[in-house]
Amino acid sequence: MKTKFPVERFQQLETPFYYYDLDSLDQTLHEVATLAGQYGYRIHYALKANANVPILKRISALGYGADCVSGYEIRRALETGFSPSDIVFAGVGKADWEIELGLDHGISCFNSESVQELEVINEIAARKGVKARVALRINPNVDAHTHHYITTGVEENKFGINPWDREQVVRFLTMARNIEFVGLHFHIGSQITNYDVFKGLCIRINEIQSWFASQMLMAKSINVGGGLGVNYSDPDGNGPDFKTYFEIFKHHLDLQPGQEVHFEPGRALVAHSGSLISRVLYVKEGIKTHFAILDAGMTELIRPALYQAFHLIQNITSSADGKLYDVVGPICESSDCFGKAVYLPETHRGDLIAIRSTGAYGETMSSNYNLREKAKTWYSDEIQSNDPSK
Ligand SMILES: *Cc1c(COP(=O)(O)O)cnc(C)c1O
Repeated sequence: MKTKFPVERFQQLETPFYYYDLDSLDQTLHEVATLAGQYGYRIHYALKANANVPILKRISALGYGADCVSGYEIRRALETGFSPSDIVFAGVGKADWEIELGLDHGISCFNSESVQELEVINEIAARKGVKARVALRINPNVDAHTHHYITTGVEENKFGINPWDREQVVRFLTMARNIEFVGLHFHIGSQITNYDVFKGLCIRINEIQSWFASQMLMAKSINVGGGLGVNYSDPDGNGPDFKTYFEIFKHHLDLQPGQEVHFEPGRALVAHSGSLISRVLYVKEGIKTHFAILDAGMTELIRPALYQAFHLIQNITSSADGKLYDVVGPICESSDCFGKAVYLPETHRGDLIAIRSTGAYGETMSSNYNLREKAKTWYSDEIQSNDPSK
């Protein structure tokens, strides 16, 4: 969906700031919820992509569940309207207090990643006199063919239970009195744009699920994780193709009667709704290039520096003929660069730059490096109605 920036209002605001187009967000959320309903799929939104309160309230109101990876995220999910029975808790290193928090609130499920963690969950649950619902996060050894920093499902990765540990896990589960085995969980990486990868995942899940069934462990739910990628070159085009995505699972996943399928998209639901809006501070001539120096940096958006991620960059206040710029931030690091050789209209000090599709892993990964303060956040509904001095 096309985002139209209220540029005149933006001119009055302090930069940098994050801007969220709630119409675009709502459209995606509605479409995906409707589609998931048609397939009978259950969706837990991955909070780590964007955990802003107004956004989470919209997501919970539409009946999505929450996928949390820390106790802090569980708290945020509870505060923003997700019911405990719709919260799942993943993560390779859950601290004791986080496990206790999950048990105290009776969350739907812990996605457990190791034998030792299962022992600790069992122990804490026993101490509290409760039963913990647990799914096993299995490392399926499927390569997501995405950037190696965001690949999580191959064997040399820290995530998930490895094949050589499976028998020990089964032995433990048959003894553990305070654990109820509820399902199998998989998550192989992020920003996956090759759908064959998901087909490969289904085939592996089928094998793994039959192995567990042969050990008398029947999964009530199969959680296939998140990872559906978005087209960062086209923030105003059609969003991620959830229909094709769901169809792959419908065709390739072998389900047992009554078995539920869970998904955990993060990025695909929120990425396109957000933009980082920044002002050009200076334009500097290099030897071979022109630098557009922004007041936003890797402190607000670290993805380009961390993952070599691409974001579309637009000058939203100039339409003059253009040239190529290296678009950089003010932080004292050479990796503080949003894009090299970016074609922009002739750019001047004071112009507004939109860095697009930053709704996922933008604000949530921001930092205070260089003692910078957190960028402000504006939502399209407040921009339309409120006083700019707010
Ligand atoms: C990060 C994460 C997700 C969401 O990934 P996206 O690529 O944003 O869809 C889902 N499940 C788990 C366990 C995760 O860690």
